Amino acid sequence: MSEDNETAGKLANDGLPPLRDVIAAHNLSAQKKFGQNFLFDLNLTGRIARAAAPLEGSTVIEIGPGPGGLTRALLYNGATNLTVIERDPRCQPVLEQISNHYPDALHVIDGDALDVDVTALGPAPRKIVANLPYNVGTQLLIGWLMQIDQFASLTLMFQKEVAERVVARPKSKAYGRLSVLCQYLCDCDILFDVHRSAFTPPPKVTSAVVQLRPKADRGTDINLDSLAKITQAAFGQRRKMLRASLKTLNINVGELLEKSGITETSRAEELSVADFVHLTQIHDQMAAS
Ligand code: SAM
Repeated sequence: MSEDNETAGKLANDGLPPLRDVIAAHNLSAQKKFGQNFLFDLNLTGRIARAAAPLEGSTVIEIGPGPGGLTRALLYNGATNLTVIERDPRCQPVLEQISNHYPDALHVIDGDALDVDVTALGPAPRKIVANLPYNVGTQLLIGWLMQIDQFASLTLMFQKEVAERVVARPKSKAYGRLSVLCQYLCDCDILFDVHRSAFTPPPKVTSAVVQLRPKADRGTDINLDSLAKITQAAFGQRRKMLRASLKTLNINVGELLEKSGITETSRAEELSVADFVHLTQIHDQMAAS
């Protein structure tokens, strides 16, 4: 028996009813407005949970537990302090049932993850693990990136297209603002793809699990708001040359590019992450003088 099958077999006996029965008993039909695509495959939920190991002793945070498939895998795989945030009130009774089964280990927040300060949920090390709702996934990720030092890792399921943007290299179609922010701050890997058929209901596209681990040493410390602003301007009009796209920054763009050693006719996708970091440094020096 493979390691995954063995764990899945045991998880099926975690003392809680099978997920499909839970869904039927609570009439939890997936709703599009909540971005709901549920995972029932215990091999897969176990694999995601184990990718974030070790869980014991960390503050683990899951966004959008839904009927609790990944939640149960996280608890089974050693999470001792797990907080889940779920917006759909229909899921609360199910999550309470899991909470009763794992006394003290699971805390349930009934609310919108966009409104929750996840850094207040427990001490470091903090790990976020989630099969994210597609409609707010990128927005949540950018919010966590802006305070990345608060986290030990982010292990996240996204549409594959978003996962590819996280790890994309310069001069590729997927390379953009998200790539620069993620790769400046973190070591980023796509761990594995997940076929659409693994979800109920199946989404239109393939998904992928990405892991981001904050870099211990970023080399140069820069103002993240400035980096976010500059990458937004540069990639917001990605077909334009930088001398045109950066005009929205309200700074002498010719001087900025010259001092940064970047050709005026370059386009955003030609710049490396290090180029954007340098550009941000010079921008902030010019803005301060
Ligand atoms: N974790 C479950 C699984 O893997 O089967 C469900 C994942 S489903 C893709 C996304 C979940 O996020 C849904 O349960 C949905 O209700 C919840 N959700 C959507 N928007 C949310 C928000 N803003 N805050 C918290 N939860 C949200």
